[in-house]
Amino acid sequence: MSSSTPVDWHARAARLEIDARAFIDGRRVDAADGRTFDKHSPVDHRRLASVARGQAEDIDRAVRAARAAFDDGRWARRTPAARKKILQRFAELILSARDELALLETLDMGKPIQHALSVDVPATARCIAWYAEALDKVYGEIAPTGPQALALISREPMGVIGVIVPWNYPMIMAAWKLGPALATGNSVVLKPSEKSPLTALRLAELALQAGVPAGVFNVVPGHGHEAGEALALHMDVDAIGFTGSTRVGRHMLECAGRSNLKRVYNELGGKSAVLVFPDHRDPALAARTVAGSMFFNQGESCNAPSRVLVHEDIADDFVRELVAQAPRHAPGDPLDPATVMGALVDEGQLRTVLGYIESARAEGAHCAVGGQQVRIDSGGPYVEPTVFDRVTPVMTIAREEIFGPVLSVLRFASEQQALALANASAYGLQASVWTHDLNRAHRVARGLRAGTVHVNQYDEDDITVPFGGYKQSGNGRDKSLHALDKYTELKTTWLRLDD
Ligand code: NAD
Repeated sequence: MSSSTPVDWHARAARLEIDARAFIDGRRVDAADGRTFDKHSPVDHRRLASVARGQAEDIDRAVRAARAAFDDGRWARRTPAARKKILQRFAELILSARDELALLETLDMGKPIQHALSVDVPATARCIAWYAEALDKVYGEIAPTGPQALALISREPMGVIGVIVPWNYPMIMAAWKLGPALATGNSVVLKPSEKSPLTALRLAELALQAGVPAGVFNVVPGHGHEAGEALALHMDVDAIGFTGSTRVGRHMLECAGRSNLKRVYNELGGKSAVLVFPDHRDPALAARTVAGSMFFNQGESCNAPSRVLVHEDIADDFVRELVAQAPRHAPGDPLDPATVMGALVDEGQLRTVLGYIESARAEGAHCAVGGQQVRIDSGGPYVEPTVFDRVTPVMTIAREEIFGPVLSVLRFASEQQALALANASAYGLQASVWTHDLNRAHRVARGLRAGTVHVNQYDEDDITVPFGGYKQSGNGRDKSLHALDKYTELKTTWLRLDD
């Protein structure tokens, strides 16, 4: 199709045939007990598919396939060069399936098709390609021991990795685990969110097509308390790569304690703070950046800058600029390429977000813009970009992760107070400081308890840098070479050297 021909995404969606059976040992299979659940689209509540409802038996089947694949070395003992070639091909196939994957992602979780095409699919492919490129460039070590011995320090694949991911960036979150886990030779059992299982299943088919052997990458859709729990408790899973809420992340650690002490890497929630100081030369740019990052993906981003701390001298102007930005992010039809904000993932999330808006009003915050459900006739859950001013740190919306398009503005009088406010959170995922005072930039960046600190920007990101949080935002780091360590065991091999 020529690039000038506009794509009719509604027509494509109507033609889409979705296979939502599990993918185990290289084949599509029904759940062992035949059960399914209906998946509806948040775009307009249309029924998308009947999804296999995986249970403990299905997880066990997938783990046994993954273990057999690992033990016979069909993937782990391939040369790094061979694994690299296959993963590069996997990344190419993801890009070739761009339209289909983007459409599935949009229909499944409600994000704008434009973002699925320009962000989700390319970022997924880039992640897989980057780890493919990296895998044959990582060397072991020789320890500086005495003359009679040689001590080799090497990294070996762990075995079977359980991956459990959320619904907000279904493909990207899966890729952040799949890339390093597959690159290092592990087998994977992926449990996608029950709210967005469709692209994970297609990824598994594309991986097989690229040459990833059967059994190495399995996908079992299902509910958290069923398939997810079974994976977290499985005695033959060596590690869990989890992304999701802090509540369930805590449960992952409990499951490891109750089973085989598997490694648990948690990437959890956030309540990220942006600190805007009066010396910044362009506070309007700060406001535009905050609005752009906050309302992207309907505010359903773990790193959404949901708390803006603004110096009291510039706060009124800053809020005015935020209010002016809001209409640019108004929700629209996710299948219309002009839309920049789509639907929330489901009715449950809608109720959660509206509940927080209600609590903010009840607790005395001022709703500067938004605050309403919109597009009700569409059948989907849509909420306006919302800004609350005059928020105080004790209010619920200042403390809890909302995971919707709701921004809180708090005011501060001094740098010390700003830093204290920013750090007064159970979370520590990201933060941002806006200032042209170099000393202040470094001082505040150093004082912020967050895994990533931005200075005079917010949206910069790359696969080359680690992503993860302090405190209850988690204990692992996705992305970058550091992620390779999570899916490998460190082994020391001593050799005696005779004279
Ligand atoms: P969630 O914790 O409800 O679910 C995440 C996954 O865990 C889903 O696949 C779910 O089915 C599964 N699950 C739920 N209960 C389970 C159980 N008892 N046992 C095993 N698995 C279970 O989170 P969500 O609502 O899907 O996603 C939103 C959360 O994810 C937010 O808190 C967000 O901040 C976080 N998140 C974090 C990052 C990060 O990198 N730090 C990235 C994206 C999202």
